[in-house]
Amino acid sequence: MVQGTMNLNTQIDKEWLQNYVDDWVAFYQKTTEEGKVASYIPVLAEANPDHLGIAIYGKNGMNITSGDTDVTFTIQSISKILTFIVACMERGVSYVLDRVDVEPTGEAFNSIMHLEMKSPNKPFNPFVNAGAITVTSLLEGKNSQEKLEPVFELLEKMIGYRPIINQQVFASEDETSARNRAIGYYLLETESLESPLDVTLETYFKQCSIETTVTDLAKIGLILANDGEDPDSEEEIIPRQIARITKAIMLTCGMYDASGKFATYVGIPAKSGVSGGIVALAPPRVRNAQFPFIEGCGIGVYGPALEERGNSVAGMKLLKHIASQWDLSIF
Ligand code: GLN
Repeated sequence: MVQGTMNLNTQIDKEWLQNYVDDWVAFYQKTTEEGKVASYIPVLAEANPDHLGIAIYGKNGMNITSGDTDVTFTIQSISKILTFIVACMERGVSYVLDRVDVEPTGEAFNSIMHLEMKSPNKPFNPFVNAGAITVTSLLEGKNSQEKLEPVFELLEKMIGYRPIINQQVFASEDETSARNRAIGYYLLETESLESPLDVTLETYFKQCSIETTVTDLAKIGLILANDGEDPDSEEEIIPRQIARITKAIMLTCGMYDASGKFATYVGIPAKSGVSGGIVALAPPRVRNAQFPFIEGCGIGVYGPALEERGNSVAGMKLLKHIASQWDLSIF
């Protein structure tokens, strides 16, 4: 095993870094035993709970990938970042934030409690289901295809290809959607939706069913790390203000009701999904030029065994380890 503490003199050596990450993926792979794959969407229960993979992408094509990186999985709640960004680009930030707040809930992602008891007309944030479904209703377009077209265009710019919708997962989500429909009807009653409920929910289930990989997630993270700009081409992919707001909400609300702990102990913006994916990022930092990825990086993790709140159990541990060893925290 490579030494636990980063050897600052060898950090530029890609092979050393690769061995280092390989060792820690193998180490944390054992902790997948502590979690369970999501089963409330039946097709998600087919995932292999032993899987753990990571991709870390930085400037100039620098990247490290390790573990089960070839596995594709559905993006699930990580899609909430994308629809939020597109809604802000289409409708303007203040229009969106007048309709969805930016406060953490401390409740499960699909909780209805706060919506009724505390904020009936303004879901708490765009990364819980009530807020995400509202955001999806704000997307321009008459049907799910038109609404998702700009999401796919954005994704294509970030990851370099157009991903597909996993039809089996989409059908499974649609069939087992009682709670999301309950949230949807509630939002309909409070006049929070700007598109018909059936179109909104179909779009929401489809966005959750987009297929992805850890490499895609790392590339998305890298663009956000650079405030919406591709660090190599310098092309603006997401307006800076929108990228910055998105990162702030990722930090405060991205890991469901474990967001406070994640911000405290890991200290980087991240967003997870129930299929076991996490997108995370470290902005460029100046503290110690000898650490790897000093110019910022995006990180994609996949580990479908989840803790009780719905985050990848091994993925969170691996991120915590790497963030502390490489001094990635934004604090
Ligand atoms: N499709 C899922 C749902 O709404 C997404 C949830 C998640 O990843 N937390 O139930």
